[in-house]
Amino acid sequence: MQRETTYDVSAIRKQFPILSRKVKGKNLVYLDNAATSQKPSSVIDALVHYYSHYNANIHRGLHTLADEATAAYEASRVAVKTFIGASSPDEIIFTKGTTESINLVAKSWGGTFLEKDDEIIISSLEHHANIVPWQMIAAEKGAKLRVIPMDDNGLLDMDAYSKMLNAKTKFVSIVHVSNALGIINPVEEIIRLAHMNNALVLLDGAQSSVHLDIDVQTLDCDFYVFSGHKIYGPTGVGVLYGKRHLLEKMPPYQGGGEMIKEVSFEKTTYNELPFKFEAGTPNIADVIALKAGIDFIDSIGKPSIRKHEEMLLEHASMHLRKIPGLKIIGDVENKVSVVSFVIDGVHPQDLAILLDNQGIAVRTGHHCAQPLMQRLGIVGTTRASFAAYNTIEEIDALVLALNKSLKMLL
Ligand SMILES: *Cc1c(COP(=O)(O)O)cnc(C)c1O
Repeated sequence: MQRETTYDVSAIRKQFPILSRKVKGKNLVYLDNAATSQKPSSVIDALVHYYSHYNANIHRGLHTLADEATAAYEASRVAVKTFIGASSPDEIIFTKGTTESINLVAKSWGGTFLEKDDEIIISSLEHHANIVPWQMIAAEKGAKLRVIPMDDNGLLDMDAYSKMLNAKTKFVSIVHVSNALGIINPVEEIIRLAHMNNALVLLDGAQSSVHLDIDVQTLDCDFYVFSGHKIYGPTGVGVLYGKRHLLEKMPPYQGGGEMIKEVSFEKTTYNELPFKFEAGTPNIADVIALKAGIDFIDSIGKPSIRKHEEMLLEHASMHLRKIPGLKIIGDVENKVSVVSFVIDGVHPQDLAILLDNQGIAVRTGHHCAQPLMQRLGIVGTTRASFAAYNTIEEIDALVLALNKSLKMLL
């Protein structure tokens, strides 16, 4: 196998201070990247640098610090625009994460344009963040939520989807890459069919943003949302991309400072995009540091990271399949570096505790996708998810620890 010839994983690891810590006396093996990725020093330094050197409120100051903070905040917006291929920074709204971005669209777009008996389509693979906001607005508007079914491997039933689309379908909100299983959904086809039916499409990009090259203009999605903390950036910042003509027609999500042009007690006029949707003092420090996360990805290149992660996925899948009674859920071709599995007679929670004792961090449970687990007829899975800094040796450590744990459990 020709690996790590051009891809210098040890140099990458050196950029992540947390990776040298011990857990329970063992080297940390962090395989919970789909929940949140670790942060390189550049991201941590960007936070410290902002607070130590130019902490100020943005957009309204007329002093040096305010100018510097505003410039850095807006530079981050431009970096996000380039990161996902939007046509203008005005189409990039900073939120606190994927969850808030979806709530914003459900409330603002759904609250304005949904009518009684309209239909919203989601899929069986959704994270709770892409289910509950739609249930809430559907209940408020008397609209209906419909769910694209899937097969036992987690592949969406595209026939059922195309039959579901009808004159009442107004919105399709779909996870691009499943956080629980790693499956990449056929979103190009989902978007094409939705648009033929005059329905809008939101892509939940919380997982795809870190693994796949994203070009929202080529995808032609109407909205794309993701979280900074899953792309090597800080927590507390996320993104809503929306096509300009749609964002322009949507009312503000929250009222306050920043989002206004002029306020009197009689009437308020709203600010232009993107400020219309950024009421109040935003999360300045984390927005600024998000750019350092994007720069980290760009410094290696998404295709190189993807290749490395695919190598890890292949190695992990091959060795996990050899463990008696272990079944990988969503063991399909088209997926990112996530392995979700169950083992006969083993509760995922017991396994997680034994793995943690050996320094290995994986995720167990329903992964915020209870309806998916119900559909699969399981309580949850154990999920190992890989990032740019993971190594073959760490996967071997996982497999070894799994075998050791199973000896104790079975
Ligand atoms: C993590 C995740 C979310 C929620 O993201 P937050 O950062 O918690 O708002 C939504 N959808 C998917 C697919 C996710 O992986």
